[in-house]
Amino acid sequence: MIGPSAGAAESGTAPLPRVRQVRTGEEKTAPTHAHSETISLATDGARELRAAAAGIPFAPRTPLTEPFWVGCARGDLLFQRCSDCGRPGFPPAVACRSCLSRALRWERSAGGGTLYSWTVVHRPASPAFRTPYAPAIVTLDEGYQLMTCLVGLDVAAIRADLRLRVVFHEIEPGTSLPYFAPAHAA
Ligand SMILES: [Zn+2]
Repeated sequence: MIGPSAGAAESGTAPLPRVRQVRTGEEKTAPTHAHSETISLATDGARELRAAAAGIPFAPRTPLTEPFWVGCARGDLLFQRCSDCGRPGFPPAVACRSCLSRALRWERSAGGGTLYSWTVVHRPASPAFRTPYAPAIVTLDEGYQLMTCLVGLDVAAIRADLRLRVVFHEIEPGTSLPYFAPAHAA
């Protein structure tokens, strides 16, 4: 799932401490390209990560999350910040996770971040997913974390702390999801 209630990182406060990456065995044998540039030719065995097709599950729109979805539809990645303690928060909440203040305001993220954790999925949760795909936790430069999927790079090019930028893909009319691509390619 992608979206504000995916909740992989309840990080209203600070990024979670780094944990050891857990990888599947299959990617160890993935082809290694001499250059990290995106390989986009549709050859057999191509491993470039792409956005999912229509029909994937994603977090439902609610009154609480609606500003996030409206932002995504126009290409803005929004998050909440506490007006009392200044901490950023995501997914959307009614109160600050740090000080419990309800004085939360929406801000626009600059859309840049670093790759905190990921996995590569080869057996999809539903046929709508294009495999392989890489669910990931990204630490935004504003200091909060977001669960997303990586796109625009080869599986073999994924590494911790990769610089990323948000890219939006419309998944159904009026609803776009935030994916992340290498900063140099976004
Ligand atoms: Zn607060």
